[in-house]
Amino acid sequence: VGRHPTPQSGPAKVSGVDRILAIGSGKGGVGKSTVSSNLAVALAKAGRKVGLLDADIYGPSQPRMMGVNKRPGSPDGKTIIPLHAHGVTMMSLGLMMEEGKAVVWRGPMLMGALQQMLGQVQWGKLDVLIVDLPPGTGDVQLTLCQKAEVTGAIVVSTPQDVALLDARKAIDMFNSVRTPILGMIENMSSFQCPTCGSEHHIFGHGGVATEAERLGVPLLGALPIDLETRLAGDAGTPIAAGDGPMARAYGQLAQRLID
Ligand code: ADP
Repeated sequence: VGRHPTPQSGPAKVSGVDRILAIGSGKGGVGKSTVSSNLAVALAKAGRKVGLLDADIYGPSQPRMMGVNKRPGSPDGKTIIPLHAHGVTMMSLGLMMEEGKAVVWRGPMLMGALQQMLGQVQWGKLDVLIVDLPPGTGDVQLTLCQKAEVTGAIVVSTPQDVALLDARKAIDMFNSVRTPILGMIENMSSFQCPTCGSEHHIFGHGGVATEAERLGVPLLGALPIDLETRLAGDAGTPIAAGDGPMARAYGQLAQRLID
């Protein structure tokens, strides 16, 4: 009572950033980072000023997926100059850590690092900052939602039951911290055989649509298992940077978020 609000006290705006979109998942390996980088690139192609913050502390994959490996500069030792790739301003904790070293930070250190990424990185003016969260419902997710004004969260899942079970928990967490859920994305939705053209549902069929309906959140899109997507991610040029069918699919997804 009687105390002035401090930056620690509640959700605050990140200076210069219009909207923050958090991309989460229950399970790892469902394509959350792939969706984050491609969505960032697709939004940039649609003319938006986009930032990408890789907060997936235990497995920061954005440096590889976006094709950057330079250590970000800090001329004054306080602010951090982000990097640029494929039209996107980006920063990853992976760029500050030694490659191949395990992260053994405890909660408070993780939370401090995240706050640094939000507060000290010179993001400049951004229409949207995409935050690639770690999988699950831990300290990083809670800190982001409690310290920053997150416009909304998107939960990526495969149609597989084990992934959906965890996606439900992620949605429950966002609800508990009152972060609006913008919708779910079904990744690895189907696979088209390159030889015979027939469609296979390797991780099940329609599971995310059913779950989204049950939870009353929109299904924003369904993305197939696609070899080019994987190769492009590994090569550091997200598939959305090109002009093939997957780039168009990400373009449509980006458009849904803009509208
Ligand atoms: P997460 O961030 O959920 O851990 P990633 O985005 O790192 O998942 O994806 C895990 C692996 O699956 C990566 O090698 C990525 O290239 C691949 N991948 C993701 N989505 C697809 C897809 N739709 N088709 C093919 N490979 C994919």
